[in-house]
Amino acid sequence: MPTFVGIDLGTTNSAVAHRDAYGRPSILANREGQNITPSVVYFGTDPPAVGQEAREWARLGNDEIASFFKPHMGNPQFQLQFQGRSYSATDLSKIVLKRLKVDAESRLGDSIDRAVITVPAYFADPQRTATIEAGTAAGFRVLRIINEPTAAALAYGIQKSGIEETVLIYDLGGGTFDVTVARVAPDAIQILSTAGDHDLGGKNWDDRIATFLAERFAAETGLDPLDDPMMLNEVLVRSEQAKWTLSDRSTARITLQLGTERRTFELARTEFEAMTFLLMERTRRLTEEALAEAGLNWPKLDGVLLVGGSTRMPMVRSYVSEMSGKPPRAGVNVDEVVALGAAIQAAIEVGEPIGDAVPRFTLAGSKAAPSVPARRVVDVMSHSLGTVAVSPDGCSYVNDIVIRRNVSIPADDARTYWHATHGGANDRLEVYVTQGESRAPIDCHILGKYVFRAIEPTAEEVAVEVRLSYDANGVVQVRAIQRETGRELPMTVEPVPDDLSWLAGPPVVASESALDREPKRIRVFLLVDASSSMAGPPMEEAQSAASEFLARCDFTTTEVGLISFSTSVALLASATSHVRRLEAAIHRIETEGSTDLTDALEMARGQLVGDDRRRYIVLLTDGYPDAPESAVEQAEAARRSGIEVVAIGTGDADRDYLRRLASHDQTSIFAQRGELVQTFGHIARAIAEGGRSLRILA
Ligand code: AMP
Repeated sequence: MPTFVGIDLGTTNSAVAHRDAYGRPSILANREGQNITPSVVYFGTDPPAVGQEAREWARLGNDEIASFFKPHMGNPQFQLQFQGRSYSATDLSKIVLKRLKVDAESRLGDSIDRAVITVPAYFADPQRTATIEAGTAAGFRVLRIINEPTAAALAYGIQKSGIEETVLIYDLGGGTFDVTVARVAPDAIQILSTAGDHDLGGKNWDDRIATFLAERFAAETGLDPLDDPMMLNEVLVRSEQAKWTLSDRSTARITLQLGTERRTFELARTEFEAMTFLLMERTRRLTEEALAEAGLNWPKLDGVLLVGGSTRMPMVRSYVSEMSGKPPRAGVNVDEVVALGAAIQAAIEVGEPIGDAVPRFTLAGSKAAPSVPARRVVDVMSHSLGTVAVSPDGCSYVNDIVIRRNVSIPADDARTYWHATHGGANDRLEVYVTQGESRAPIDCHILGKYVFRAIEPTAEEVAVEVRLSYDANGVVQVRAIQRETGRELPMTVEPVPDDLSWLAGPPVVASESALDREPKRIRVFLLVDASSSMAGPPMEEAQSAASEFLARCDFTTTEVGLISFSTSVALLASATSHVRRLEAAIHRIETEGSTDLTDALEMARGQLVGDDRRRYIVLLTDGYPDAPESAVEQAEAARRSGIEVVAIGTGDADRDYLRRLASHDQTSIFAQRGELVQTFGHIARAIAEGGRSLRILA
């Protein structure tokens, strides 16, 4: 019966794993008996050689070689010519995947029709789509695309049933670096954050040695080996070998010969570490970034998993040990763990149990080991998703982020844009979809130009809701709905123009440009009850709810401030659109004493007064404040000055009292424990989309 596998389609090496007869993930060796297959194709033979044989041809200096093509997946510009044919990175990956399939099938004695394929967490939409295409072309039904570090966490988690841990996955391969923070629990893997660099890997370490050798050789002989293509290949091969040696020994000897000139050099590990210090610094910076995004620091981690061949370098191990205060987690095979995780995900997809389904040895009288239940995997995307929009002041194009990075996928969200119909003459809306963090669209990846048609001219300006989503594979979907008619607009995808320089300039005619933001200018103050009754889990939930509120805000038009109130009142953040600053402020809330809501409302009013924006106070409390009547007076004063008050109660809060604080009945809400996150999400959405008077559909 056809079966399924997990595949780590790597930049340098690939591996395949399946669910074995005991229900455990295990690697399927290739035809050479090796657990990993180099992701290399040689076109000088017919049919092309793949894997170890192709790598041997490369070492001999042949140039009909395709390697290192994975970073170019989905890039139409990347085409290699071999034997009069042109190959994209997708075509080359298909060849590697086909070889992996044939080898795995012969090892299993069974056909394989389905696969989970892993991708680096930083892979954007075109690269993910291209990976699915390559898998399909190789004859697989691609069950899922999952991030490599997530797969590593899954494989690690399966060994650890029963324990909940927060781990950092440091994945340094041949050409890429990914760092991910994950919560590994018995029933679920939750990815908290991820960061990376698709241009940082073992190859950069090789290049540093190659430059060192070439300089020494040129200084002694006057000949630069890097000028000679054959010699360049030789230097790179020797450099990589020297790097491997330095993982085991303190010095490496390297001999180079160009013409009659032959020289031998010695490289000490300490020298190697000094010359690659800046590369380690880059991984260090990204690791700190991932930790900060997860709201954690080194001491809060339970352990570090090393993944990828380059983590064999002692400098990586010492860095991790130094920062975390303990050695990296043992028992993880850096080359195989990703494929094993992919096999686990594949088993989850097809609904088969994974773990010790059939115990190998059963002692008399002992119970059979239970099968480990399928795990839930909550992943995130490392890129924010947005559209190119006109800034609220009409002066520039901005990257209007709709789904922030590091939110759980699948995810979807929408933005409403105003579109001038010109009485029916303009029924077409162009949406440029972006992936990236920069406010300047030119610095982001433009995924596509989505053109929506048949907009009905029901008014001079009509509202069009553009809905973006990430599916479970991290692949992007785009839709648009005309608000008034509720009709989904027909869409075509057009090629992205080569010249995007106009994105850096001012919008041509602001009022007619593709996405003209409704000139909303919103300012919100969150007021959080920090009295002692909120201590512990209630405050943790309130903090998550405030984070959710931020995740749902549109920061191109909105500023948020944060005040906490207990015995005293603290302005933790003045109004800002700086999300990181706000996230940090949320984590500075400290609980103590009683509930001075009066002063908190007065402070918020002071921060919001005299501003022509739409203004809101969103307050959360779990009981009566110290002076209930004067708090109501302050809320009334805020409302009189045009500020809308949303009052959310939880715990012992009184519904009637909340109504007296709120602007109207719809903005007084009582949320049970466990409902706050969702409630705050609804409120943020209602504020982003609503008019002057809010209606919250909780
Ligand atoms: P991967 O993409 O995970 O297969 O990793 C491949 C990278 O790991 C290449 O840059 C290899 O040179 C590097 N690598 C493999 N073994 C070692 C080793 N013993 N020491 C240092 N780097 C290694």
